[in-house]
Amino acid sequence: MNRLTVIAGPTAVGKGTVVRWLLAKDPNIQVSVSATTRSPRPGEIHGESYFFVSNEEFDQMVQDGELLEYAVVHGENRYGTPRKPVEEALKAGREVILEIDIQGARQIRQSMPSANLVFIAPPNWEELERRLATRGTETPEQIAIRLETAKQEIAAMEEFDHVVINHEVAQCGQEVLDLIQAS
Ligand code: 5GP
Repeated sequence: MNRLTVIAGPTAVGKGTVVRWLLAKDPNIQVSVSATTRSPRPGEIHGESYFFVSNEEFDQMVQDGELLEYAVVHGENRYGTPRKPVEEALKAGREVILEIDIQGARQIRQSMPSANLVFIAPPNWEELERRLATRGTETPEQIAIRLETAKQEIAAMEEFDHVVINHEVAQCGQEVLDLIQAS
């Protein structure tokens, strides 16, 4: 069976762009669609970006053991990985990527010790601040919270099997692809 690959890293480091690059590069790679209690942003599609669920629905998923891992992210909303699609895809021989936060990565480390944990890091702190500011999707308060979370996440980098610096999407994507294909 293929190994699960967890991709984590601070906010705005470009994880989403790297994951899209990987999906375009290798059709055998599949990314897990998470459930979240946060509201959709403009352009986000239910079932593609996330499964947008209510607090009650999320509680039910937890209670029924439907989530492989879950966490409160940025002290705000809950996010979790639906178990069934991941298990089915792995059984079918696909490579599965989870793009989740560090708390989720730690839970996967416990429940699936064979998972490959990859941390995407920014070239430096200033670059991360710049990427977050230019993304323009968060308020100044949200930016401050996300930078605080980012500091904690960067401090936990050594817990990961691999650290890949995102200088530029094709370089970072290729390094992650090599790790996935070598596993
Ligand atoms: P956003 O709200 O910007 O889409 O995502 C915020 C953060 O939630 C990201 O850092 C992302 O990695 C994390 N996240 C997304 N889905 C999950 C999930 O299923 N589980 C966990 N633990 N974190 C997630």
